[in-house]
Order: sequence, then C-alpha cells, then structure tokens
Amino acid sequence: MRSSLLCVASAAGALAASVKCTRDQFQDSSYAPNDVIERDFAIIGGGAAGTYAAVSLADQKKTFAMVEIADRLGGNTATYQDPATGASVDFGVQLHLDDPIVHDFFTRLNSPLGPFSLEVFGKPQYYDFAKKVAISNYTRGTPGPDYVAEVNKYPFVDDLNKLPNPVPADLLLTWPEYAKKNKLSTASTEAGLYWPATPGDPLKTTALAIFNDGNHIELAEFSGKAVKNANSDNSLIYRNALAELKEHIFLKSSIIAAQRSTDRKGGVQLVANTPTGKKLIKAKQLLVAMPPVLDNMKYFGLDQQEQPVISKLSGKHYYGGVVNNTGLADGIAYTNAAQDRPFHVPGLPEVVEIAPSSHPGYQFYWYNSEEPKSRAEVESAAKSTIQWLQTQDKGNKKSEPQFLDFKDYSPFHLTPPTKDIADGWYGKMKGLQGHRNTWYISALFVVGSTQIWNNTHNMLPDIIKAAQL
Ligand SMILES: Cc1cc2nc3c(=O)[nH]c(=O)nc-3n(C[C@H](O)[C@H](O)[C@H](O)COP(=O)(O)OP(=O)(O)OC[C@H]3O[C@@H](n4cnc5c(N)ncnc54)[C@H](O)[C@@H]3O)c2cc1C
Repeated sequence: MRSSLLCVASAAGALAASVKCTRDQFQDSSYAPNDVIERDFAIIGGGAAGTYAAVSLADQKKTFAMVEIADRLGGNTATYQDPATGASVDFGVQLHLDDPIVHDFFTRLNSPLGPFSLEVFGKPQYYDFAKKVAISNYTRGTPGPDYVAEVNKYPFVDDLNKLPNPVPADLLLTWPEYAKKNKLSTASTEAGLYWPATPGDPLKTTALAIFNDGNHIELAEFSGKAVKNANSDNSLIYRNALAELKEHIFLKSSIIAAQRSTDRKGGVQLVANTPTGKKLIKAKQLLVAMPPVLDNMKYFGLDQQEQPVISKLSGKHYYGGVVNNTGLADGIAYTNAAQDRPFHVPGLPEVVEIAPSSHPGYQFYWYNSEEPKSRAEVESAAKSTIQWLQTQDKGNKKSEPQFLDFKDYSPFHLTPPTKDIADGWYGKMKGLQGHRNTWYISALFVVGSTQIWNNTHNMLPDIIKAAQL
C-alpha cells in the first residue's frame, strides 16, 4: 500500500523524511481509493454511547465511520453465551432504567425487554475473602430516607454537566467524612459504599462520585423501575447493531494519527489502523465515545485548551468473568465483607463477589484493584476464593471451577483529582464540547447507560448542526 511504503522509506531515512511521512498520511494520494473514507461523522468507540450515536445517525440518514478497538461492540456490556447449553450470562451491565429511551432502543434493535427483579442478584452471604472467615450476623445496609434526603439536596449530581462552580464543599469530602458530618445512618452510609460495580476504594471516594453513581436514576432502578434483555442477553442490541451497520464499522482498529481543524469547514482527518490496512477517515465532526483518557487521546494532537483538562482524567481498574462447575449453591451472592475494616469495606485488590446468574450452574464474579492485573492473576484469585467457599457450607461441593469468559473494564469511573474538581474541571471539560469539531459522549458526566443514551440523544442535534456549517 502506498502510505506504508512512504512511511517505511521515511523510517529508514532522515528526520526530514519522517516529517514528510506524517504529512503524507493525511493525503488522499497516499492511499488506495477504497481506503479513503469520507463521512459526516467519525465515532471512536462502540460501547453504549458510540453504538447509540451510530444507530441514531444512521436513522437520520447521516453517514458515519466507527473505529472500535475490540472485536465486538458493547464495551462494558458483556454477555457469555454457552453454545452447548444455551445459557446466557450478563457479567457486565446488568440493568437499565425502565425509561422510554431504553424501550425505544431495544425495540429498534429487536431485543426483547423484560423486568429486572432484584432477586436475580441472589441472597447475600458475607465472608471475609482475605482472612477466610465467615461474617455472620451481618446484613449490608440499603439506602434509607436519609440517603434520599441528602441526594435530593443536590439535584445536579445526577449529571455533572450541571455541576455548579464553586462545587459545594461537602461534596468533595470523602464519603465516610460526608456521612459522619451529615449524620447518615450506618445503613445509608454502607449503601453509598456498595453501589454495584464500584471500582477503587470507596472509603477514599468523594461524596460527589458516590452520588453521581448512586443518583436518582440508580435509586429508581433499585426500587424496581428496572429492565433488562428478557433472556439475560444485554449484548443482543450490540450484536444486532453490528450486523446492521457493519460496513461502516472497523473492529480491532484504532486511531494512530489525527488532524482536527479549528474551523467547522476543515472537519477532522483520522488515520486508522485496521485489520485491512491503514484508512484515511475524513469527517465533518468527531464523536469521542471511548474513555477520553490521555492514553486514548494521545494521537489526537491535543491543543493548549484540551491538554490541561484531558491530562487530568484517570480511570480505575475493574474486572469480571464467568465461571461454572464452582460447587457453590445457586441463588447465593457470596459477598466479600472485611472482618475488621470500617463498614466492612474489603482491602484491595479483592474479589468483590461471586454472584449467581439467571442460569443455574453459572456464576459471574467481579474483581476490584488499584493496580492493573492480568487475566491469570484475576482468575487465580477468583479460583482460590471459590475453592475456599466450597468448604464453607455443607451444601457446597468440592470441584474444579471452569473459567469461561473474562473482561477487563478498565479504565472505569473516570475522574480528575478532587482539587481539579474544586477548580472547575467539569465546566472546563464541558467547554470542550464542539471544540475542534470534537464531541465527548461516553461516560464522564454520568455513569449509567440510560443516562448516556439520553445525553447522547440530547447532544446529537447540536452535533448534526455543527456538521452542516
Ligand atoms: C461491571 C460493570 C457493570 C455495570 N453495570 C451497569 C448496569 O447494570 N447498568 C448501567 O446502566 N450501567 C452499568 N455499568 C456502567 C457502564 O459502564 C455504562 O453503563 C456504559 O456501558 C458506559 O458506556 P460507554 O459507551 O461510555 O463506555 P464503554 O461501554 O466502556 O464503551 C467504550 C468503548 O470504547 C472502546 N475503546 C476503548 N479504547 C479505545 C480506543 N483507543 N480506540 C477505539 N475504541 C476504544 C471500548 O472497547 C468500548 O467498546 C456497569 C459497568 C461495569 C464495568
């Protein structure tokens, strides 16, 4: 291919030649005609945000090209399907708000919706997985009216696009400090510490982050206003979106160079590394639907307005997997609760829980760590936990767990340092929307998929308008 020939020549040659390579990679003449892709929009990342945007744009007869680094769409929505038994196990995103946008999106993508019953989470039994002791006479708290009263004080915490400046100082306290100062009950304090799939150390997490996750939407979901795919296959919407739109989607691909104009007419030009060679994608507007951490944004040539904001973001490490042949009882949520730490919060790294699935014989687990971990490390920790749990109940059996699927959800729950939040970070990030034809739609101001879809839906008219100028 001509572009790679130019780059090989430059790599072997002088610095001047490598400058030529960099410049040439944005020229049509460096590519075969089929490798120059002109679209209204480029979407980077095909999780909840990117897929929603792609389907909506296609429905509005707009053209797009999507670049997704994985071999599938769905991001944090992960479903294991056992071809032998037909079992389907959601081990990432579990539930959505029972909301019109969810019904519309699932219907659009031919995915049957059913009610989500909290009983699916199983009956909790508590153990200190690190010390290997059962924690009896303990029941983890759920949010009481005092929690609701506190979250009601700050209606903007649902969506940090609306965060005021200055940020109320109490919200920047750690959750235990906030709970103590505001005299929350133990049950409500614990509820804040244990929203499902919370990465990092909850004892160090700000009240702002706890409320942003455990917000009015989450409270509604946990009071029963929740739905999921009727067959425990929340990934079906993503498989169907891929089947329909595959000619516009580059899987196993990533951006390796970008030029983004400061004016609307100039649009954006992206060089994508794909399994079928390099492509030049020329689009009017760019939708960043991957986590916009510096490592992902490093090829986008961040300017002096973007760099100081985006460089502050980091995410946490979180992992999950599916296992069968555990010897453990179905319907039980084997939950990690530290014997002698505040509010029974386990130390990190930790297996968070071995949870039941809606298919007997299959369990999934979540694993939380401050440091990156390999699949082997995570599965080894899950295996030793499961084998110890086998000894803890007469009904459990000794058996060799089979690890069936795994997902690294990192970087998860992106946030800047607390001092930057106090310094107006969310307002600065919001100020980047549309800057250099670039829009940020993935989880950043909100956590859950329902809110991501609603926010993307509300932003699309502005994004489409920008492409028309
Ligand atoms: C274990 C777990 C359980 C959860 N449960 C729920 C739940 O029950 N309900 C709920 O509403 N939310 C839940 N969430 C929150 C969930 O993260 C969001 O709902 C939503 O999936 C986030 O969507 P997103 O598009 O922002 O990010 P993601 O879903 O993470 O999608 C980002 C996409 O970008 C891709 N990508 C990353 N880097 C690059 C790159 N360099 N180039 C190209 N592509 C890239 C990724 O592969 C991914 O496909 C859960 C999260 C986790 C981790």
